[in-house]
Amino acid sequence: MSGAVDVIVLGAGHNGLVAAAYLARAGVKTLVVERRPIVGGACVTEELLPGYRFSTASYVLSLLRPEIIRDLRLREHGLEILPCRASFTPFPDGRSLLLGLGDREDARQIARFSGRDAEAYPRFNTAIARAADFVRPTLAMTPPRLPSPGIGDFVFLHYYLGEANGSPGSWGFVKGGMGGVAESLAAAVRSHGAAIRVGAAVERILVKDGVARGVILEGGEEIRSRIVVSNADPKRTFLRMVERSQIPAEFVRGIENLRCTGNSAKINLALSELPDFTALPGDGPHLRGSIQVCGAHPDYLEDAFEDYRSGRPSRRPYLDIVIPSTVDTTLAPSGHHVMSISVKFVPYHLAEGDWKTRKETLGDLTVETLAAYAPNVRRAILYRQVLTPLCLEEVYGLTGGNICHGDMALDQLFAMRPLLGWARYRTPIDNLYLCGSGTHPGGGVMGAPGRNAARVILKDLRRARLRTF
Ligand SMILES: Cc1cc2nc3c(=O)[nH]c(=O)nc-3n(C[C@H](O)[C@H](O)[C@H](O)COP(=O)(O)OP(=O)(O)OC[C@H]3O[C@@H](n4cnc5c(N)ncnc54)[C@H](O)[C@@H]3O)c2cc1C
Repeated sequence: MSGAVDVIVLGAGHNGLVAAAYLARAGVKTLVVERRPIVGGACVTEELLPGYRFSTASYVLSLLRPEIIRDLRLREHGLEILPCRASFTPFPDGRSLLLGLGDREDARQIARFSGRDAEAYPRFNTAIARAADFVRPTLAMTPPRLPSPGIGDFVFLHYYLGEANGSPGSWGFVKGGMGGVAESLAAAVRSHGAAIRVGAAVERILVKDGVARGVILEGGEEIRSRIVVSNADPKRTFLRMVERSQIPAEFVRGIENLRCTGNSAKINLALSELPDFTALPGDGPHLRGSIQVCGAHPDYLEDAFEDYRSGRPSRRPYLDIVIPSTVDTTLAPSGHHVMSISVKFVPYHLAEGDWKTRKETLGDLTVETLAAYAPNVRRAILYRQVLTPLCLEEVYGLTGGNICHGDMALDQLFAMRPLLGWARYRTPIDNLYLCGSGTHPGGGVMGAPGRNAARVILKDLRRARLRTF
């Protein structure tokens, strides 16, 4: 048995690191244990090919709470956020839409398609910004105890809630890739005296008489603690790492019934040259933001979704693409690039075949789809990584390949995340807490679940309401 600590944080995803940093900063003796050889969870940089550094999972930053950046002094620990302004959509007929270069240019771009939409666009942006301003304060809240569901939906606002570099609604790239967030958090954790162990997978959370008392690692090492904080998703935490007999049956049923199935894949490419879009040839601002391949008509998305519903990857997939090396030269050799492609509407469960055999077909289809808009892409590819929803589960530990630790749906948010009655980071097991994206306010590289959980734990410690071993 290893020496006891006050708190074990199970998982070094960014939320686990945020929780650990706040706890350690308050003087709590904290140890983080992570199954992978690197910290960050779904917020990492990985050098898949020498000289090419990829944000293999998450790829753009907006949601990370400014108060976390400030409190944990992440900029002093190396965090740098670079702009990701433009949004480029090439169409099959050779036209394109480039937004994000200022109000006047946005209006001009939209007016080429619809004068009415160009006129309405500023009103739309104002309405969204107002709604986001209204919802944003809830991110730092511990949700109230509610007797029954009945709150409004703020789901669609999720992507407008961020404020990269202090600008509401804007997104950014992280210098050195998304791992820059995790590395700066890990430095903050260590600066407050806490330890991080990687390559240390937890097999079981030790529970005795209804109280968490530490963890047992794969291989049998036992580490005792007063408190265990799980950064793993709720299904993984309760259905894999805790004896069922230790949890109320109703709670287990609730966790089993959580919807936690992924619907996207990630493809990472090393390129010897930039993509040359037929709709807007050459280099330019359109390659320095996000690029959406989504056809020219809503039918394209409807069809993509229908394919997904029938258990197959979309035959014409919707792609969300970034090329961070256009603004961060540390990511690839000079003149070369790294490209992230998020493929939407990709089922975790396939109606036919399995992901082990269908994985590269998805990669081929994605490249073919992109090449229809930028034909030089085919010859530019030096390396390709395909991460199916199954890979997201196996590599990153995301149950069901769900990138948010559970659907961000009306009945799984706020006071119902992860379950009604259990949204305040505590669990039916004394001294066991949750701090990951499966808790309020949910997924994305935001840090809010980790910070909120740490606040609740510190409050409980102060009130000494924790049962000790
Ligand atoms: C492909 C993809 C693209 C995305 N794109 C974006 C984006 O561009 N922007 C954005 O804001 N968000 C994005 N997201 C979502 C975002 O990355 C996640 O919601 C967020 O990073 C989850 O953070 P977390 O700390 O809550 O959990 P995780 O990052 O999942 O961390 C949980 C940690 O627990 C560890 N763990 C699990 N089980 C054990 C165990 N038994 N023992 C020890 N450790 C364990 C895991 O290895 C992991 O490190 C994306 C996610 C994915 C997968």
